[in-house]
Amino acid sequence: MYDSVVLQAKLKVLSDAYAAQLPEKINQLNQTLNQMSSTKWDEPGFETLLLFVHSLIGSGKTFGFGSLSDVARNLEAYLRQLAQTKTIVGKDQRGHILASIKELHAAALHRDAPIAAQAELIAVAQPPQTTVAPRRIFIVEDEREVAEELKIQLGYFGYDVSDFNTLEEFRLAVQQTPDVVVLMDVTFPEDRLGGVKLMNEIQRERKIPLPVVFLSAHDDFEMRLEAARAGSIAYLSKPVNIGALIDKLDNLTSTKPLVPYRVMIVDDSVALTAYHAAVLEEAGMAVKAINNPFKVIGALLEFAPDLILIDLYMPECNGTDLAKVIRQLDAFVSIPIVFLSAENNLDKQLFAMGLGGDDFLTKPIQPPHLISSVTSRIRRSLMLRSFMVRDSLTGLLNHTAIKDQLDGEVAWAIRQKKPLSFAMVDIDHFKKVNDSYGHPVGDRVIKSLSRLLKQRLRSSDLVGRYGGEEFAVVLVDADGPTAMKVLDTIRDDFSQLRHLAEGAEFPVTFSCGIADVSQFPDATKLSDAADKALYKAKHAGRNRVMLADNPPASGSQEIKGQN
Ligand code: GH3
Ligand code: MG
Ligand code: MG
Repeated sequence: MYDSVVLQAKLKVLSDAYAAQLPEKINQLNQTLNQMSSTKWDEPGFETLLLFVHSLIGSGKTFGFGSLSDVARNLEAYLRQLAQTKTIVGKDQRGHILASIKELHAAALHRDAPIAAQAELIAVAQPPQTTVAPRRIFIVEDEREVAEELKIQLGYFGYDVSDFNTLEEFRLAVQQTPDVVVLMDVTFPEDRLGGVKLMNEIQRERKIPLPVVFLSAHDDFEMRLEAARAGSIAYLSKPVNIGALIDKLDNLTSTKPLVPYRVMIVDDSVALTAYHAAVLEEAGMAVKAINNPFKVIGALLEFAPDLILIDLYMPECNGTDLAKVIRQLDAFVSIPIVFLSAENNLDKQLFAMGLGGDDFLTKPIQPPHLISSVTSRIRRSLMLRSFMVRDSLTGLLNHTAIKDQLDGEVAWAIRQKKPLSFAMVDIDHFKKVNDSYGHPVGDRVIKSLSRLLKQRLRSSDLVGRYGGEEFAVVLVDADGPTAMKVLDTIRDDFSQLRHLAEGAEFPVTFSCGIADVSQFPDATKLSDAADKALYKAKHAGRNRVMLADNPPASGSQEIKGQN
């Protein structure tokens, strides 16, 4: 949960630390000035001086030293004038600069309300949600067979299902379990709208209404209306289409906890980095701060950020050059880069963006503004990225993406000497499903298998849709026999599912071929071997999982389903 009080306290500590360092920072100006030549144009000395002065502009305002920031801005303008005409820093110039330094020292004693004091505004920004949605289901249904069947089928998709015969039992249980999704029969023997009425009563006693899916043998408007009033998220007619039900449930109960957004901050100012990091972390993001631009590339690969915030002026390597270098890395061509600087000259801002930046934020930046700019950039970029790598029917990685991932994971596993297996899954006689029940029913079967794979595999495993009714799975940290056990359990569960079409129920099976990287130590060999093992599984009678052997001629191990 977001806590602006905690943030306030953190920012106060940072602001105090900044205030304590200020005299030392201003003294650096004196030192630099003393070392500069007074007889010739001293370019490096000048650059250093400018950087020190510039850094005071943004940081000063951020931590509540507004007048200090103003003095620094005037001094910067004066120095830039000198730089343009390459004016030697003689007696007059030195006098002007020393006077400004004196003003800076004076201004350092006046702290106004730091920008941190406005932190309560942060509550406006939407932090990413980090809670895990419920996977518990309560079924309230007087027809025993319907309840039993739902319980079994939902169980295959990883839901924890309890069912209740009577409304009273349910009412008690629901008071003790806050996070459940309710599947409620509309009609009970004693009352045609008994389920809806009970839900209405329960919802009235709650702050946050429970999500309810109503099940009904009748589909009339009055019932739908009453159900909507009782907080229904879906109204399904019996017999229940399990695919449609799982779709609704999956929307409510995301299978993975949402991972926090990852932001890398590159800024030579330790105080400012800590400040911006505190703001973003308090909004639930993971932050990596880098103060030396030369360390960025290594850190990028390791931290894999969703967005990079870069200070425009840093000694030795400025922000625009750094952005150019980052853009040259294949993996980071499309990562959002946002410049953060006290630079308020629009031409310079536009120039920086032309060199690979996506946005420009001016220091000092209000916490809510920082959070919302970063969040909306990341959200958009993740969405675009997912369109490029995700299959639209199933949401799984598409063919190209899963192949890319396989290449990367295989290289990593070989280097780290870790186990890894690759599985190819193909639905059996799928053409018959399409021919008998139509393409849309076929699509639902594809979706139900994709859900089962996603839910059953660990979140570190990668699942892709390889082709029409073909799937590919990269099982990290699993050797062949382990992968075989996992996929065989999924195979067995899938074969027990009942798919529904126009009143008919039918089962579907799949075959699977697996190869282990310890026997096929490169991505191409590995996927060829898995493909061959799949082919063998098909020929051996389908509905089974086979592990590729090396050399392939000596036969393969298999686990067979009872088909
Ligand atoms: P086998 O057991 O040998 O795998 O037999 P099969 O019928 O599953 O294999 P085949 O490759 O002959 O047929 C696959 C069928 O899958 C053909 C194609 O029309 C269908 N298909 C491919 N993509 C989709 C899709 O996205 N949706 C639907 N409904 N059908 C698809
Ligand atoms: Mg097939
Ligand atoms: Mg096929």
